[in-house]
Amino acid sequence: MPKDLCCCEPLEEEIEKQIEEKSECGCGTFQVPDLSKIENPNKPKTEINNSLLEILEEKSKELGIVSVGYVKIPSNVLDKNNSLKYSNAIVFTFPIGMDIVNEVPCEKTQKLNDLLYAHFGNITYELSDFLRKEGIGTQAIHPMDGSIGFSKLGEEAKLGYIGKNGLLITPELGPRLKISAILSSAENLPYLEKNSHEWIKNYCKRCSKCIKNCPQDALIEKENKLAKASLIDEKCIGCSQGCTYCIESCPFFENGYDWVKKKQTKLETKLKEKGKL
Ligand code: SF4
Ligand code: SF4
Repeated sequence: MPKDLCCCEPLEEEIEKQIEEKSECGCGTFQVPDLSKIENPNKPKTEINNSLLEILEEKSKELGIVSVGYVKIPSNVLDKNNSLKYSNAIVFTFPIGMDIVNEVPCEKTQKLNDLLYAHFGNITYELSDFLRKEGIGTQAIHPMDGSIGFSKLGEEAKLGYIGKNGLLITPELGPRLKISAILSSAENLPYLEKNSHEWIKNYCKRCSKCIKNCPQDALIEKENKLAKASLIDEKCIGCSQGCTYCIESCPFFENGYDWVKKKQTKLETKLKEKGKL
């Protein structure tokens, strides 16, 4: 079972300051410093062996991370003016605790959400330090950092697929997750070729529950019910009040990945039989 958030963990001072300074919907709009404690190696290794990767994945799981994926960062997920050090990304997903999901959007939920970001950020720094000790150069990207489109990164790492709500949907957690990354000097990460979660977009095309349940009308259906909605940032209270309605209303959260997949497969079989697909 993934560990849920421990609310008593203190925020790192610098991150706390940045969180306080953020605008109302400030998630992902600023750069968070890399607070890895160990210095990067002078001559970073460009290869990582399988046993070290296995240990990294085990350590990640022990710290509450649910899935780990790898991606060579493509240009479309990089901001124009970025200072990213390496293109070899290790991507992590971490659960949003049920304490957050079960609360209504409010100051308390926002605080829990901020603590979750800080806690997950610290885990990311710890894993970065672990790799540095082993001679791998790293740049830890805090889950609140705006240098990278995290959902896209997770999708490119084949951990899941982006739903209509703009969130990464994974088999383990549906859309109930946060994402962080470590960019590394290791060029030989086990990148996957094919994304086995692409079918999600077909389900999303017919669903739109996230749009209907957004209390702020921040998600706007695109013409012809495409698989992605437009998000009006200024309206969204996801970070400013810890809103999770677009997560809670999603069938991937309510019923789980396998249930939705079964339903979609059944539907597609019927459509094929009728010659409509
Ligand atoms: S977090 Fe809340 S306000 Fe933002 S898109 Fe989701 S449901 Fe709407
Ligand atoms: S609520 Fe429906 S449309 Fe929205 S992300 Fe979930 S499955 Fe897709």
